[in-house]
Amino acid sequence: MLMQSARPLGELENPAEFIPRHIGIDEQDEKHMLSVIGEASRRSLIESIVPRSIARATEMKLPAPLTEAQALLELRGIANRNKVLKSFIGQGYYGTLTPPVILRNVLENPAWYTAYTPYQAEISQGRMEALVNFQTMVCDLTAMPIANASMLDEATSAAEAMTLAKRSVKSKSNVFIVAGDCHPQTIEVVQTRAKPLGIEVKLANSAQEWDELLAGDYFAVLEQYPSTSGRIGDLKADAERVHSRQAAFIVAADLLALALLVPPGEFGADIVVGTTQRFGMPMGAGGPHAAYLACRDEYKRSMPGRLVGVSVDSHGNPAYRLALQTREQHIRREKATSNICTAQVLPAVVASMYAVYHGPQGLRRIAQRVAAYTAILARGMEQIGFAPRNADRAFDTLSFHAKDKHHARAIAARAVALGANVRVAWDEYICISLDETTTRAEIELLWKIFAGDDLRKLPSVSDFEKGVEPLIPTGLRRTSEFLAHPVFNTHHSETGMLRYIRSLSDKDLALDRTMIPLGSCTMKLNATSEMIPVTWPEFAHIHPFAPREQLQGYAELDRELREWLCQATGYAGISLQPNAGSQGEYAGLLAIKAWHESRGQGHRNVCLIPSSAHGTNPASAQMVGMQVVVTACDVNGNVDMADLKAKCEQHSKELACIMITYPSTHGVFEMQVKELCEMVHAHGGRVYVDGANMNALVGVAAPGEFGGDVSHLNLHKTFCIPHGGGGPGVGPVCVVEDLVPFLPGHEAGGLEGRPVGAVSAAPLGNAAVLPISWMYCRMMGAEGLRQATEVAILSANYISVRLKDHYPTLYASANGHVAHECILDLRPLKDSSGVTAEDVAKRLIDYGFHAPTLSFPVAGTLMVEPTESETLDELDRFIGAMVAIREEIRRIERGEWPQDDNPLKNAPHTAASLLKGEWTHAYPREAGAAVLDERRHAKYWPPVGRVDNVYGDRNLFCACVPMSAYE
Ligand SMILES: *Cc1c(COP(=O)(O)O)cnc(C)c1O
Repeated sequence: MLMQSARPLGELENPAEFIPRHIGIDEQDEKHMLSVIGEASRRSLIESIVPRSIARATEMKLPAPLTEAQALLELRGIANRNKVLKSFIGQGYYGTLTPPVILRNVLENPAWYTAYTPYQAEISQGRMEALVNFQTMVCDLTAMPIANASMLDEATSAAEAMTLAKRSVKSKSNVFIVAGDCHPQTIEVVQTRAKPLGIEVKLANSAQEWDELLAGDYFAVLEQYPSTSGRIGDLKADAERVHSRQAAFIVAADLLALALLVPPGEFGADIVVGTTQRFGMPMGAGGPHAAYLACRDEYKRSMPGRLVGVSVDSHGNPAYRLALQTREQHIRREKATSNICTAQVLPAVVASMYAVYHGPQGLRRIAQRVAAYTAILARGMEQIGFAPRNADRAFDTLSFHAKDKHHARAIAARAVALGANVRVAWDEYICISLDETTTRAEIELLWKIFAGDDLRKLPSVSDFEKGVEPLIPTGLRRTSEFLAHPVFNTHHSETGMLRYIRSLSDKDLALDRTMIPLGSCTMKLNATSEMIPVTWPEFAHIHPFAPREQLQGYAELDRELREWLCQATGYAGISLQPNAGSQGEYAGLLAIKAWHESRGQGHRNVCLIPSSAHGTNPASAQMVGMQVVVTACDVNGNVDMADLKAKCEQHSKELACIMITYPSTHGVFEMQVKELCEMVHAHGGRVYVDGANMNALVGVAAPGEFGGDVSHLNLHKTFCIPHGGGGPGVGPVCVVEDLVPFLPGHEAGGLEGRPVGAVSAAPLGNAAVLPISWMYCRMMGAEGLRQATEVAILSANYISVRLKDHYPTLYASANGHVAHECILDLRPLKDSSGVTAEDVAKRLIDYGFHAPTLSFPVAGTLMVEPTESETLDELDRFIGAMVAIREEIRRIERGEWPQDDNPLKNAPHTAASLLKGEWTHAYPREAGAAVLDERRHAKYWPPVGRVDNVYGDRNLFCACVPMSAYE
């Protein structure tokens, strides 16, 4: 076992026993790897790589590691401090029943949760089919022509809709009108987003204000449907008024309600946003859930987020791929339509499967039951003297005017005493939301809560249930069909559903089958013991706006995790609110901006970004209204200090910050990072250190100590939250002492009065996945985390050295070492053989591997990041495949195989293409199949051949239709 000295016989427990489960390399492997690299010890290797000047002075102070069983027990104690009451709070979060076949086989299944974002289309057909189902579901329910494959939450989706509208409409106004009865967290996030962009948000708090504002000048309007207090407005007239001003009409709509209500697409909405949480994703104290964004067809090239489209493969068969990527940050950088990178794929898959499972009839039945219970609740409430304010137009939410705020609070307190939460809104109102989990007994409980000490006979559900009619005005009832596609009408038996889920995951390659050596993405182990707590009821079934006393478990989780992450990063304060790295960047830049403003330096708006930066960096800078100035890299891939100096001097007066990644995205520890920080500080700027590469730093060096002022972490990279096929993530924003006051607030969640407002819908963002990182830190301890870092660096160097005669590493430090990843330079192969990095990436699929990162940060290269979790066997298997591929390239170079017909150009090979009767290629079938001996029984067969990217964007198709329709 790694680094564990022999323990005396009789010592029965080894609290550190998880460490060698997480780290795939043992002591013997390590010796071998060091000898290949030519270093005497791991210590000397690390000392030769990490600059002395930044090495940590002290060890991290973390509690000593626990075993899996012990950690689960301790976390159970924390979970038990959450009090799960029946929630009637609503406000965008509802009880839902996750069909068990989906719970176990999607949400809790590593084949789904350990997959990566579907950039490599051929090994991602299963999850992309699920995402196309998601897009179709959203398009159908909203009656909009196009929908993307998930947004981070409803509030940020509304904010993205605002900027989408700004980019798209004719109106030149800077005013954005928001109906006052939108969910408060949505209003808050929209306000945070609007401010740095110079957009003026005007809130309409009464019918009269609304009327006046709609008569004025604005570029878009946002309304909630039904409203946060439950009222179903007739929005058609509003849409017409908005259109007459050349502005966009944005509707935040409840997807379940749309099963019964006239959908926004039928009354003229231009953009529709919302959450899909109640389609099977537990509330989880606020996340993760997939939000959606649907829009008119004309807006599609300006849409934010990921979009899955249909294209064709090399055999002419339909195949899915990510469409219109030229909108996205990784290509368009500061001109991108948004900074979204990690989204909410796993929750989107769950929501889509919920629709597949229930089908249109099932969804309608669920919605009808909710609406019927709401009508019954209203009748009973009237009988006990509480007439709902919206009794004539409600779907699932009723609002009541209490006598005063004391009365409202008394009702809420009585609810708590009886095991339920209701919402107190605007001081004097009570809102009650029902959902698919609501029972008869709960309706009667609600009457009891409101009746108080009034001992009159309470009504019973059976008094009203005969011939109950929903409270939806006839003119607003939906008449159009939805979810007519066979996929939503076929898999309704559990056997069928189980096999459908399995058939999709079988098409994909995830970490449960192979290493995924994606540079910058840190695809490490997501241990089962880390995953198990996520669906514990105490974490899963709690509302983000439940009273604080009921969220004590989450408060403790938040506090401990922040403390440990402060130790790991050397920062003074952290917020876990941002729900992806991109959102952490945004929050961090807002903090820098607000700090400058607080010192009367609000004019500082230049953000320096090295050319090698990740696309989210410039895209985030743009979102806070900063001007991006790109600084050059030198021949060694390091930030060009002379150019940086010149840019700092040129922009000294306007310098807001620099955003660097450390170690750099080139996979190197730059020696001059301290100087760099000092130089930027000297010009009055702050240093943002992108923490995506923290897997090379934890326990070894801390950005908060070597000059960073702000960083985000990617808990879904370094701290073991799985990628989920492209989300969920958590992107904590970490800051030094003087920036702590500028961390994001959250009024709806009780973090009031901060200069920077909410950046996510929920105060703890994707709260329900935080137990994963907690478990990881708790089982690894300081020593384990440092070992993980060191082994990650060791493994990357091992691969770099083993492959050096086949694919040279592009950037290394002076002594030839790399950090935790290495960039393999494949560019010379183009001239010698016509082979591109993409061909090698696709050929790796034939060998059963997910490709490394392709063409980031340098075009024509592959960036390999093995992580500490892979075993030596797997590293060697990968190296073996890469060498075998290089031998194939040599045959092309020697002229044995033509440049346009060889196993690389035709990769990946489907089974069908190899079994075809006549074989016409210049190489044998066996060579095409690439079955390595030891894998004979575990060969992965891609379901499609190479997917045509250009065709897909030219013939954009983003919903499920019968295959015949586009053949
Ligand atoms: C992954 C990554 C990001 C973005 O993080 P998301 O969580 O995907 O939004 C930013 N910078 C770098 C260097 C990254 O690798």
